[in-house]
Amino acid sequence: METIILGLGSNRGDSKAILAAAVERLSAVLTGLRASSLYITKPQDYFDQDDFYNMVVSGGYTGTPADLLAAVQHIEADYGRNRAGEIPKGPRTLDIDILFFGQQQVSLQEPPLTIPHPAVYRRAFALIPLLELHPDYCDPVSKTPLAVMLAGLEDQGVRKA
Ligand code: ADP
Ligand code: MG
Repeated sequence: METIILGLGSNRGDSKAILAAAVERLSAVLTGLRASSLYITKPQDYFDQDDFYNMVVSGGYTGTPADLLAAVQHIEADYGRNRAGEIPKGPRTLDIDILFFGQQQVSLQEPPLTIPHPAVYRRAFALIPLLELHPDYCDPVSKTPLAVMLAGLEDQGVRKA
């Protein structure tokens, strides 16, 4: 069993309710699920949209990385996610990213899947809630504590909801 870290985000629809429902659904996918507080984050890549609600969940998983991606994409779709009708990096009802999958490094073409998630290291909205759950978490690749990485980032204005 691997310890999985997922990053959740929403800025469209009733984001708080959507995230609460997604956590409930994920509790059937991950064993011993733990959920961070909810945070509010300014959009980073595409600016003309509402602030995001973000959080992190962690828990145990016994399937493959591709199985987990399929499971989280199924939950995204159930909450109205429709990638074809979206602006890339734009408003979305529910985004679930696989941030870490135990110590594994994954690079798949089909389905496209890169773990650790390449952007996790520069996103305070992922690192802050993750560190709330796992204060001593180290990057499996570089072995650097994520707290050290976060300390090296500019203030991104992430605040508790
Ligand atoms: P965003 O990059 O804004 O999260 P999407 O949620 O639409 O965009 O994801 C785009 C694609 O990213 C998905 O089709 C998925 O296959 C791929 N992907 C690659 N690595 C990951 C990962 N670690 N977690 C989730 N999706 C990933
Ligand atoms: Mg995503």
